[in-house]
Amino acid sequence: MTGNSMIHTDALVIGAGPVGLFQVFQLGLLDIKAHVVDSLPHPGGQCVELYADKPIYDIPGTPRTTGRELVASLLEQIKPFGARFHLGQEVSTLAQQADGRFLVETSRGQSFLAKTIFIAAGVGSFQPKRLKIDGLDGFEGSQLFHHLDEPARFAGKTVLVVGGDEAAVEGALRLHEQAKRVTLLHRRDVLQAPEQVLARFEALRHRGALHFQVGQVTGINTDAGQLKAAQITDVDGNTDALPLDSMLVLLGLSPRLGPLGQWGLAMERKQLQVDTEKFSTSIPGIFAVGDINTYPGKKKLILCGFHECTLAAYAAAELVFPGQRIPFQYTTTSPKLHKLLGVETPRQD
Ligand code: FAD
Repeated sequence: MTGNSMIHTDALVIGAGPVGLFQVFQLGLLDIKAHVVDSLPHPGGQCVELYADKPIYDIPGTPRTTGRELVASLLEQIKPFGARFHLGQEVSTLAQQADGRFLVETSRGQSFLAKTIFIAAGVGSFQPKRLKIDGLDGFEGSQLFHHLDEPARFAGKTVLVVGGDEAAVEGALRLHEQAKRVTLLHRRDVLQAPEQVLARFEALRHRGALHFQVGQVTGINTDAGQLKAAQITDVDGNTDALPLDSMLVLLGLSPRLGPLGQWGLAMERKQLQVDTEKFSTSIPGIFAVGDINTYPGKKKLILCGFHECTLAAYAAAELVFPGQRIPFQYTTTSPKLHKLLGVETPRQD
């Protein structure tokens, strides 16, 4: 987490999906330091959010990996460049300043002044689906959560987990040991998760280590500014209060194009138009890579996004280092690149 003082940077990458991460790598090879913002609390974009443990077979040189493994490899690969991540915050505004730099602000009040911007926003900013209950949103971050990124905060608590898919069942399973009591609430009595996950859940439920209830949250009880209980309405329309300390709502995520539609960039069908030489948007200095862009022949594939990052980084180097020659070098043989990567240059015998 960062403070709220203005950050000056050569490059700001919006989106920490696979393409945003590889953009950091390509910028790093050209000695351009980057900051990265993502609305999710962790890097990985669609790979982690939508198919973390499913196989991917078309990453060059990697016959088989998974969404999660690919992201772990990318994070390892960009380590030498020390990019700073600003997670759990959406980029909300972007405006060009008189000196050509871009002023960017996030939903958490972090601001950046960047020479170049790389929009790697994929299918949009992933937002958790929320319960529409009067007064509930005010407890966000204190008693209401939409991600299980810090399980320790639920230690010793009575927790209501809302949802019926794999993430919700896994969430309940992860919490049951440290929480005082965990109840999983779903509107139907059928849960959607892999068989072995459901088997573990059933076994723990049978032992009374976990609880399951069918119904929907239709209201909340509060007292002295504290969330005290959820009102649960069952399929027969009966409503009862379920006491709780924390509510973890895991109803899935939906991507939202969000504010980038208002930044004055040329778009076509909710995607950013780019050229295929520099992957520049209609505003010089703002590049768009990965699933968010469109051009003739575009394919929404990770390897296509990786190629785009390379050309965008070279084009950005001309803006970050005006008047300087940008040499083309191989990572195999360039001592300069070895230095940037923190590896040793092999001896020439
Ligand atoms: P994303 O992965 O979508 O990441 C974008 C990130 O930007 C997100 O984390 C989002 O939260 C963030 N973001 C957006 N707007 C903002 C904002 N305003 N502020 C802050 N953050 C923001 N591709 C393949 O090549 N091979 C496959 O086998 C393959 N299998 C797939 C299987 C499934 C089920 C799906 C859904 C996709 C698959 N894909 C596959 C496609 C691949 O996942 C995408 O091409 C890839 O994720 C695009 O990467 P990206 O970094 O451009 O965008």
